Amino acid sequence: MQTIIEPFRIKSVEPIYFNTVEERTALLKEAHHNLFLLKAKDVLIDLLTDSGTSAMSSAQWAGIMKGDESYAGSESYFHFEEKIQTITGMPYVIPTHQGRAAEKILFSILGGKNKYVLSNTLFDTTRANIEYSGAQGIDLLCDEGKDTSLVANFKGNLNIQALQEQINVLGSENITMVVLTVTNNSGGGQPVSMANIRAVRAICKAHNILFYLDACRFAENAYFIKTREDGYADKSILTIAQEMFSYADGCTMSAKKDAFANMGGFLALRDEALTKQCRNLLVITEGFPTYGGLAGRDLEAIAIGLDEIMEESYLHYRIRSMEYLCNKLHDADVPVMRPAGGHAVYLDAKKFLPHIPVHEYPGQALACALYLHGGIRSVEIGSFMFGKYNVFGNLIPATHELVRLAIPRRVYTQSHIDYVAEVILEVFQQKEKIKGLQIIEEAELLRHFTAKLIQLN
Ligand SMILES: *Cc1c(COP(=O)(O)O)cnc(C)c1O
Repeated sequence: MQTIIEPFRIKSVEPIYFNTVEERTALLKEAHHNLFLLKAKDVLIDLLTDSGTSAMSSAQWAGIMKGDESYAGSESYFHFEEKIQTITGMPYVIPTHQGRAAEKILFSILGGKNKYVLSNTLFDTTRANIEYSGAQGIDLLCDEGKDTSLVANFKGNLNIQALQEQINVLGSENITMVVLTVTNNSGGGQPVSMANIRAVRAICKAHNILFYLDACRFAENAYFIKTREDGYADKSILTIAQEMFSYADGCTMSAKKDAFANMGGFLALRDEALTKQCRNLLVITEGFPTYGGLAGRDLEAIAIGLDEIMEESYLHYRIRSMEYLCNKLHDADVPVMRPAGGHAVYLDAKKFLPHIPVHEYPGQALACALYLHGGIRSVEIGSFMFGKYNVFGNLIPATHELVRLAIPRRVYTQSHIDYVAEVILEVFQQKEKIKGLQIIEEAELLRHFTAKLIQLN
């Protein structure tokens, strides 16, 4: 087979500033062993997130110049609206400044006390918006999805039997909606099958429950359906995406993911009365209905990005890049989550650093080691991010200790990815030298963004 090449060439570049292990040692100390506190210029390869970090195309930059900044009735809005209507089949489109703003509007109206939202896995901002409204979120991930090393096609699926049981227990009248996150971000970027979407739809319909998609990575999910699910190999990504959305009553989306934009999001719906309520709230919190929280140029860049994300040569390269890194690490016995997800590769820090107990944060220790050794910035998804304390002040650990390497879209080339793999392998060879960490200062909520740590000896 021939090498799968990047389906783009480079017109404009940004420099990477090289630094040494000694310099990074000092920088890491200054940042209190918290990679969120580093300056981006001190990072060589930044795999902190795939959100808003995509490289825009020349067509998108041209669209930025063409953006219509009219307060009302902007041409760029109509371009944006038409594109989203075509993909989702949903008549009502509400632009927001990012995904969480769409969630905030939706759950301010549909959430509230004694209500439940069921999901394969709610993303953290979605869960936060649900809980902030007084409602509760419940994750019902399929069993395959819970096993980090099991290779299966659709590890993002919702457990249909558990959904049925929860509906019986809670009562359909208390369930605000079911949300399927595609792909399942918090579950490793694993896809949801069309069969699962259809089954969720059927149950929701039978019980008169709303069904929404959290569609941030709809194109990556559609590509997995095309390549892994029977009957879809010959269908276009657009056709598959249209079928996915056809089962849903509405969707929220962050354009910072599968729209190649640096900022933006939207809410799309089929219900006219609910749309009216959402637009009333939009005007107070975001802006007029034809721009929401965005500039005309953002709307234009998103409309163009939504077309580009569905190009098969792009998705082929995108999904293959994740597999490439994942396989390289797996072949060298590095513990990774398998199979590769759509937007990231996850290291299993508990297995990588068995000598570091969970209360010394092996994931964070590994993330720091990757920065020290090779200037790579990743993010811990484990007890540093999600850990809580019991009444005695002891850590209640998270279920997994992972380090996520999220790959920005169209930003890094194969040699960057090769370098990342080399650094991880070198760190793996001297893993016994890595030491645990202790938190010395932390905020009550979302502590991982600001907490300070020290290295233990
Ligand atoms: C990023 C993300 C969101 C929130 O979007 P923002 O644009 O960051 O506000 C919601 N759901 C999922 C699955 C995401 O990945």
